[in-house]
Amino acid sequence: MRHLVWFRSDLRVADNPALFEACVNGATVSAIYIDCLEQWQSHGRSAIQRDFLSRHLQALSAELSQLGIDLTLLEVARFSDVPQCLAAWLAKHPHDALYANREIAIDERRRDKAVQAHLKNTPSIHVFNGDCVFNPGSLTTQSGDMYKVFTPFSKTWLAQLRASGFRLLPPPNAQAKPLTPRDIELKGERVSSNHWPCGERAAAQRLAQFCESHLYDYGHARDYPAVAGTSGLSPYLALGVLSPNQCLAAIEQQLGFLPMSRGEQGFAWLNELIWREFYRHLMVAFPQLSMNRAFKPDTEGLQWSQDSGAFQAWCQGQTGYPIVDAAMRCLNATGWMHNRLRMIVASFLTKDLHLSWRQGEDYFMSCLIDGELAANNGGWQWAAGTGADAAPYFRVFNPTTQGERFDGKGEFIRQWLPELADVPTKYIHSPHDWLNQHQPAHQYPAPIVDHKRARLHAIAMFDALKDNS
Ligand code: FAD
Repeated sequence: MRHLVWFRSDLRVADNPALFEACVNGATVSAIYIDCLEQWQSHGRSAIQRDFLSRHLQALSAELSQLGIDLTLLEVARFSDVPQCLAAWLAKHPHDALYANREIAIDERRRDKAVQAHLKNTPSIHVFNGDCVFNPGSLTTQSGDMYKVFTPFSKTWLAQLRASGFRLLPPPNAQAKPLTPRDIELKGERVSSNHWPCGERAAAQRLAQFCESHLYDYGHARDYPAVAGTSGLSPYLALGVLSPNQCLAAIEQQLGFLPMSRGEQGFAWLNELIWREFYRHLMVAFPQLSMNRAFKPDTEGLQWSQDSGAFQAWCQGQTGYPIVDAAMRCLNATGWMHNRLRMIVASFLTKDLHLSWRQGEDYFMSCLIDGELAANNGGWQWAAGTGADAAPYFRVFNPTTQGERFDGKGEFIRQWLPELADVPTKYIHSPHDWLNQHQPAHQYPAPIVDHKRARLHAIAMFDALKDNS
């Protein structure tokens, strides 16, 4: 028996259901990865993530070769080319069965359907859930629908965890003698991701260190961007170098138990993993989320601004609001942004500048090393008031008080805005009067909008929807 594993966003050998199942019963196993550069570009994904992906394919090739499994890179332009490419490759390298873990976004699902139709079950195809603790579609309300808000979803998710636990698979046994790994290098624009260590072991180490040092005070420390209080695991989770089951296992190993309710040690971090699952389950239940559509259909009628100058100022960190500007410059320089800051800049783009969440979503995707459709779309729609969120639309973050609360001494701001280096802490969140008085030649822009007025305008935009309905 010859089994083929098709790797996609599951670049790991441990806890990989498709790989694990392909390797039982002593089959001869080989592996492929199909790169679609044009598709990558049309999904607007970042050059730093492409570099991270390329490095991880090389690392995966090395891991698999230790197990006697050869990883071949196939290259086509778009998903629509995949069925023929795969069929042609299989004609030269016949296999009895094809194993893969499911991907959730609509283009990927359509690609898989087309492959299925083209191959006509030769080889037989076996698909698994490799990136959620519980299979999307398996957690529903009593009437069988997907939850539309987080809290009841999380209750059901936790009940399921209590009832069934989670399943963690070991790496498969070696299938043959070790091979020499192939050199794998992706084409296309890349920006160095070397700041992030590469490979499953590096991810596992980061996970263990985080659980040992930060799991206990995560609930508090996670909100302060100047503090390394979060795990920094999102780039690994986004490419599937790490699985959510491995995160649960690490929590359990650290605490000796899995926290199941608010207030229990470690629960705050577990809760973020449930948010990740929520957005993935939503994406499967509501395919329109992959198609640029608002989760709340009535909000499609919002009259977003078309001000390209304001958008450029936001992208470049030149809005005159220090916490927003520091966050955006950090994103531009590193490809990563702290969650609190993502919420602040997303609220600012949509509720202060009145620009569409789609513009922010696309810009994030083009910069982030952890860019991932479900969480990115979910986060943007949450912030814009168009998404799966129980909070009222008139929740508008005040960028100045957010800065005061979460970067009180301005440490993060000073790290990214050198022009504010000398501003005393007392003025760091509204530095203009001080700058005008003490450094009249300063280059820091005046606030691009008046927050109070902008907030009222945002609320009026939503009120207008009610009037029109
Ligand atoms: P931790 O706080 O250590 O959390 C652990 C893991 O849980 C994260 O790695 C991530 O996989 C998951 N997670 C945490 N918070 C969330 C959340 N709110 N929603 C979904 N999953 C979460 N996350 C991405 O992985 N990719 C994105 O493209 C992305 N875009 C976002 C856009 C906006 C506007 C917002 C508000 C949030 C976005 N997030 C995204 C969610 C979150 O900001 C990041 O997952 C988090 O900052 C990553 O840092 P960490 O690994 O240190 O997280």
